[in-house]
Amino acid sequence: MSAVSAVRMALNRALIFLGPPGAGKGTQSRRIAERCGVPHLSTGDMFRDAITRGTDLGRMVEPIMKRGELVPDDLVMKMVEQRLSQPDSANGFVFDGFPRTLAQAEQLDRILARKGFGKPLVVDFTVGEDLLLRRLSGRWTCSVRGEIYNIYDAPPKNAGICDADGGKLIQRPDDRPEVVKERLAAYERQTKPLADYYRRQGVLDTVNAAASVEEVGRALREILKRAEGRDGHL
Ligand SMILES: [Zn+2]
Repeated sequence: MSAVSAVRMALNRALIFLGPPGAGKGTQSRRIAERCGVPHLSTGDMFRDAITRGTDLGRMVEPIMKRGELVPDDLVMKMVEQRLSQPDSANGFVFDGFPRTLAQAEQLDRILARKGFGKPLVVDFTVGEDLLLRRLSGRWTCSVRGEIYNIYDAPPKNAGICDADGGKLIQRPDDRPEVVKERLAAYERQTKPLADYYRRQGVLDTVNAAASVEEVGRALREILKRAEGRDGHL
């Protein structure tokens, strides 16, 4: 038995991570998915996969994504339902960046019920705006190979220059402070009601996302264990 399978945890349902950009959901959701042996699902990846495989939905969303527009909810939900019908989703799955709106959350509940899953387990990544601004607006990217630096937390040896290849570091438009502030405000407006929705259902846990990656990972594993004791779904 390998070390990985020895520590494998069961999930058997949807695990949803809420939290603003920069809260570290991507890293943690990938790790938990690997640990539980279930798919890690982001809508972007699902759409790119459908486009690559040339499915009907893929052909519908390709021009929308090429124009850089938001894919309408009905297509998103169809994509999610199709994805959850694939055999690798039978033991649960981890969503990264989905659902984004209350409407999506309500529709997801209906899909989960149709597929025979109980309520999801939802974890809200809480972190102060100051820290998010530092994480996001401190990010500079190598113009040659895309290495990522943070001028506060992981600066290059020489300011403005990539350690690996000497490439010029640039700040992506999305990472400029004024854009970051707008992204965080948009997140608050759109996604905060989701946390309330799941809290009312008694399925919401929170982690302090200001902690280190290791500490947040430990907190998440505790939440999974507690959920097992609480309702026996795991
Ligand atoms: Zn570089």
